Amino acid sequence: MANIAIIGTGYVGSVSGACLADFGNQVICVDTNEEKIESFKKGIIPIFEPGLDAVVERNNKSGRLSFSTDLKSALKECNVVFIAVGTPPADDGSADLVYVEGAARQIGSLIEKYTVIVDKSTVPIGTGRKVHNWIKEELVKRGQNIEFDVVSNPEFLREGSAVYDFTHPDRVVIGSESSRARDIMKDVYRSLYLNETPFIETNLESAEMIKYASNAFLAVKITFINEIANLCEKTGANIRDVAKAVGKDGRIGSKFLHPGPGYGGSCFPKDTRALAKIGKDFGEVQNIVETTIEINEKQKIRAAKKIETAIGSLNGKTISMLGLAFKPNTDDMRESPAISICEYLAERGVKLRLYDPAAMKEAKWRLSDIKDSIYFADDEYDAIKGTDALVIATEWNQFRNLDLEKVKDIMTSFYFFDLRNIYKPQDVLSRGFKYYGIGN
Ligand code: NAD
Repeated sequence: MANIAIIGTGYVGSVSGACLADFGNQVICVDTNEEKIESFKKGIIPIFEPGLDAVVERNNKSGRLSFSTDLKSALKECNVVFIAVGTPPADDGSADLVYVEGAARQIGSLIEKYTVIVDKSTVPIGTGRKVHNWIKEELVKRGQNIEFDVVSNPEFLREGSAVYDFTHPDRVVIGSESSRARDIMKDVYRSLYLNETPFIETNLESAEMIKYASNAFLAVKITFINEIANLCEKTGANIRDVAKAVGKDGRIGSKFLHPGPGYGGSCFPKDTRALAKIGKDFGEVQNIVETTIEINEKQKIRAAKKIETAIGSLNGKTISMLGLAFKPNTDDMRESPAISICEYLAERGVKLRLYDPAAMKEAKWRLSDIKDSIYFADDEYDAIKGTDALVIATEWNQFRNLDLEKVKDIMTSFYFFDLRNIYKPQDVLSRGFKYYGIGN
């Protein structure tokens, strides 16, 4: 089994660290954020990720998992280092590599023996070579000639089901030209390797491209069904039947065929923009991806305009929004469509009453520019109280079965915007609401 250090304990680093420890490896998770590390040490998980607490606790107890801010000590024991730091979008859409470079240079300035450096962050094609050069430069500065290999091992987990996804991946991608490094990676993932999870061994560039191509394809698929849903609204077709039947085609598949107010999150928006930028840089414009980015922005505003068109003048209206995270089972609001919709409504004089089961803390700072228009509610019914309209922006399970009689009693007007199509229109209409879904 390997001795592993993970640099970055965000959504990817913390889940990877805990699950790799569960596979039997010795793992130390390192972050520069002292507060985060202190929290993990106390067994308090600083992000909302179902099931992660149990894996952290189990492996903490067994002594296989620990947390630290001291990379130097962590690296002493390790033969494998994962880079799992953020790659946020820069102004031109490219992935900002400042944290990756920082981590790589730290590694170069600290390693004492042969080490495999694994890039798990999502990075532009060619970054693996840059990581190699940054480490090499630091070693040269030290007058050292320590051997090392760089591996690209992109991560495909989804927030909200990250522990399951990490432990049951559709494939593990290992990009490296070094057979020594590839063998060590098979040790790292021995549990999956023995379970016959497909391992795809490629060069660095292909591994980096696989991650972008996968995310871009899913973003295109969502955007495609959103456009078909928009057309359904004009033609009398019903997207629920259409998507269901289209998805039954084995060549297409039913996943990611759910229309909504546009995709958000920490990955699809930034990864599609980064891929579009890479395409431009290499003179191979990614037309489908560029168009997807454009349509997705319009889809968020379309959802807000749908509310405006139905209600008429928004000024002075009170509207509740249930769900603020970009999807259920996470507290992550990065690029959530709920933000665009809230901003649109607040700019037009709407008083908002907001509730999300996990993202309230995040919402308070992400929506601070419009805080004067917002009441942060205690639960869904507190949010709905006294409102003209109800908007379901994220399909948390607890919003799927609202007590509609109670909802009717506490609202003042009865507009019901189901932006995730989680209600049967007839169930809502029959109780006297004005129901608006997507694509029907
Ligand atoms: P995050 O922002 O939640 O966490 C990144 C962490 O790295 C932060 O805690 C930060 O303090 C830490 N960090 C930065 N520089 C550091 C350094 N030099 N030393 C130690 N710690 C450092 O990011 P995330 O959502 O976990 O994403 C990480 C990467 O994985 C990104 O490239 C992302 O695109 C990719 N990814 C994310 C997901 C997802 O669902 N979030 C899925 C697949 C891939």
